[in-house]
Amino acid sequence: MKQYSTEILIVGGGPGGIFTSKSLLANNITDFKVVCDEPEVVCRCNIPYGIGKKFLNDINDAVTSHHTFLPNFDDVGIVGRISRIDHPNKTAYGTFLKSDEDFSVSYNRLILAMGGQASLPPIKGAINLDYDGSNPVGEVVYYKGKSYDKAALRDNVVVVRSVADARRIDAICGTGLTVAVVGTGLVGIEIIDNLIIRGNKVEVVEILPHLVSFLDADMSTHLEEALKNEGANIHLGKPCTEVGDGYIIVGDQKIKADLVVIGAGVSSDIQLAREVGCEIGKTGGVRVNERCLTSVPDVYAIGDLIEIDDAIFSEPVQFQLLPNVMMQGAIIAKHFKGIDLEGPLAVGAGMSHAADLFWGFAGYSEGMVASRDLNVMAEKIELFTAEHASPYAKKAWYKMVVSAEDQGTVKRGQIIGFQAITQEKHLGDLMARWADIIGEKETVWDLPKHNWIHQPLVGNPPSNAYIMTFFTMFTGKLEK
Ligand SMILES: Cc1cc2nc3c(=O)[nH]c(=O)nc-3n(C[C@H](O)[C@H](O)[C@H](O)COP(=O)(O)OP(=O)(O)OC[C@H]3O[C@@H](n4cnc5c(N)ncnc54)[C@H](O)[C@@H]3O)c2cc1C
Repeated sequence: MKQYSTEILIVGGGPGGIFTSKSLLANNITDFKVVCDEPEVVCRCNIPYGIGKKFLNDINDAVTSHHTFLPNFDDVGIVGRISRIDHPNKTAYGTFLKSDEDFSVSYNRLILAMGGQASLPPIKGAINLDYDGSNPVGEVVYYKGKSYDKAALRDNVVVVRSVADARRIDAICGTGLTVAVVGTGLVGIEIIDNLIIRGNKVEVVEILPHLVSFLDADMSTHLEEALKNEGANIHLGKPCTEVGDGYIIVGDQKIKADLVVIGAGVSSDIQLAREVGCEIGKTGGVRVNERCLTSVPDVYAIGDLIEIDDAIFSEPVQFQLLPNVMMQGAIIAKHFKGIDLEGPLAVGAGMSHAADLFWGFAGYSEGMVASRDLNVMAEKIELFTAEHASPYAKKAWYKMVVSAEDQGTVKRGQIIGFQAITQEKHLGDLMARWADIIGEKETVWDLPKHNWIHQPLVGNPPSNAYIMTFFTMFTGKLEK
C-alpha cells in the first residue's frame, strides 16, 4: 500500500478543496495533499448552461483539469477516494481511482471538503430502493436519509450535480421531449430556462404556492409570467408524489413527462465527518466556528459540507454557494499563517437569469420569516434603471424587508432582506452590496451614509432615486 505523510490533508477536490489548496500555496504553505475523487474539474455553476448551450457548446467546454488550478498537482494531488479516517492515529485510508489500489495518508491537520450530493424528495418510483449494485461510492443521491448509487435512479429520472449528470441530460433532451422539472431553486430555474432553449416542452412542479422560495410571491410573479411566455407549464402548491414511465403525478393530475429532472437541493456528505467525531448541526451540516474549525481539534471543514450561524438571526444555516466556499479556503489558509480573519460569509445571497429576466436575493424574504414571531415591514417599488427615455433603461422591481421591532438578535428598522427582478444584467454588484448591508446589520436609518451614483443616460441600478425612495418609505412609518 502506498503511504503518504503530510502536514495538512484536504479530503475532496471540488471548489472547496481546490481553492483551499490554492490559498495554501499563495501563503507559501506547500506541505499538504488534496484527495480528489472526480477525474474532471468543473465549476458546477456551468452545468445548466452545458444543456441549454447559451454560452457553452456543451459541458465539456467548462471541464478542465486539476493542473489548471494547481500547476503542481502532481506533487500535492491524489486522484482517489478516502473511505476511512482514523483520526486518533491521524491517518486516512483510500483507494486510487485508476488502479483500485489502496493508499494511506498520515496527517497533522485535516480539512474536510466533501461537499454534498443531490437530495431527492419523497417521490414514489424515482429510485429503485432494492438496487444492489456495488457499494455507493462517489456519485450518490440521498433519499429518505440514505445514500444510493446514482445507478439506482429510474431510467427517466436525473439530478443535477455533476458533469456526468449534465452529459446525461444533454444526450437525451432537445428532441421535442416533455421534461418535468421538480423544484424551483436557483438550479431548478436555470434548468427550466435551458431546457426551453433546447426546444423541450417543460412542466414545472413547485410545492410552494409560488416559484423560488427566496423570493416573495409578488416578486416571483414576474419570473413566472416570463417563463410562461417562453412556454413553460407551471404547477404550483402541490408536490410531485410519483414518477412512472412517461408520466409524473402532481396532486390528482397525471402529467406527461418523458424525462424528470429533480432540482431539490443538496445534502451534506457527512459520513466521514461523523466518523471523525465532528458535531453535526440541526441542518445536517458539520458545525464550524468562525475559523472553519469543527468540534474536533485540528479538523476543519468548509463548503457545502458545513453549517454556520447566519448574521441576522444567529441561527444555524447552510449557504451552499461558491463564493462562501472560496472565502472559507482563504480564511483557513490565513489562520494557518497566524492571521485570523472574520468569516465565514453569513448572509444567504444569490442571483440568476431566466427568460428575459435577471433576479437576485440577499437575506430573507417576507415569506421566509413568516413563521417567526417577528413583525416585519416590506416595500416593493417598480422603476427603470436609468431615465426611462435612456436606451439603457431597463425595467426593475426591488423589494426590501425590514424588521418593525427589536426582537432577539434583530433591531427595529434593521434591513433583513432585499430582492430584485430586472432586465438589467449587472445585478451582481447590486446584490453583493445588499448582502454586505444586511450582513453588517444596518438599519434603514443607515441608508443615507452610503454613496449612490446617478446619471440619467447610464443610470446604474443603485441610483439615488430608488435608495432614497426606500429610505423615505420606511422612515416615514418607523420612528427612530
Ligand atoms: C447545477 C449547480 C449550479 C450551481 N450554480 C451556482 C452558482 O451559480 N453560484 C454559486 O455561488 N454556487 C452555485 N452552485 C453551488 C456550488 O457549486 C457549490 O457551493 C460548490 O460546488 C461547493 O463546493 P464544495 O467543494 O464544498 O463541494 P462539492 O462541489 O460537492 O465538492 C466536493 C468534492 O469532494 C469529493 N468527495 C466527496 N467525498 C470524498 C471522499 N471520501 N474522498 C475524496 N473526495 C471526496 C466530491 O466527489 C466532490 O468532488 C451550483 C451547484 C450546482 C450543482
